[in-house]
Amino acid sequence: MDDENSISRLNEIGRKALEGLEKISEASDLERWKVENLGRSAPVMEIFSHLTGLDSTMRPLVGQAANRLKQQLEKAYGEREQVIKTAQLKNSLETETLDISLPGRQPGVGRLHPVTQTLRQITDVFSGMGFQVYRSREVETDEFSFGLLNIPPYHPARDMWDTFHTTTPGVVLRPHTSPGQIHVMRQFCPEPIRAILPGMCYRYEQMDARHESQLMQVELLVVGREISLGNLKGTLQEFARGMFGAEVRTRFRPSYFPFTEPSGDMEIECFICSGKGCRVCSKTGWLEILGCGMVHPTVLQNGGYDPEVFSGFAAGMGVERVAMLRHHVEEIRYFYGNDVRFLEQF
Ligand SMILES: [Zn+2]
Repeated sequence: MDDENSISRLNEIGRKALEGLEKISEASDLERWKVENLGRSAPVMEIFSHLTGLDSTMRPLVGQAANRLKQQLEKAYGEREQVIKTAQLKNSLETETLDISLPGRQPGVGRLHPVTQTLRQITDVFSGMGFQVYRSREVETDEFSFGLLNIPPYHPARDMWDTFHTTTPGVVLRPHTSPGQIHVMRQFCPEPIRAILPGMCYRYEQMDARHESQLMQVELLVVGREISLGNLKGTLQEFARGMFGAEVRTRFRPSYFPFTEPSGDMEIECFICSGKGCRVCSKTGWLEILGCGMVHPTVLQNGGYDPEVFSGFAAGMGVERVAMLRHHVEEIRYFYGNDVRFLEQF
């Protein structure tokens, strides 16, 4: 190849390359063009490898011209690349419509179930008096649910709890939280106990506005030396004040439970009619909140405590009932109906 030819060949290479570049509108074609015109075996690179065969005066001229062409092609490539990228972006903005003015979807914010909220308030009040929470099992034996609580088989008091029996003889879904009394006593005997035992209970009930087949109960147990009925009344009155307001009036009425002696119910003055009598309090002016009593000596003994030395009191209440009174809910079945329209009001 002579010197004149080298220069005109360079011109020819440049013209062809730039012409080809003009027509390119796709990124993949551009990439191929780069390999063909700036790659290791591109025509302009061939010129470089033939430089050694040239006349010594022409060699630098051809070399410089080849360098210029290479730089020119690189610059043209960069410009074309920019044009194609801009066109691609414009195209995707036009075709892939994203309306950023559309308001986003508001995610639903969860909250605690009204029964859980009420249970936590109850727990708070008792925590303030030094009570600890003790959790007990939901599937129980007949012995813990009844026998050890002074309710032997065939005792008529069993009718107070319509119990779900499992197919395993002697195994039931606990109908109340009281079996936990025996568990906590056996675990901590002979230490004194001040505990609340919350949990779900199950009853084979005829369901209506006041009865559900499942209910959340809170049990209360205090065991120690010289625990008196006065301690029971003071503690439960303090609870009523913490839960329903400092001004709330309470009264105790005799009742019957096999595992306490004596037994009673605590009522609070109806806060809807202030004691005058209304539909909620059945015109009595009082609302029953919980059942309570001094722990029966037999139950203390079954828990491991000597009833000659130790005494105690217990109480139990339905959390749904407390929630119904506080929020003026008239239908217990709403709590487990899973209707968000009801649940989101709390
Ligand atoms: Zn009332």
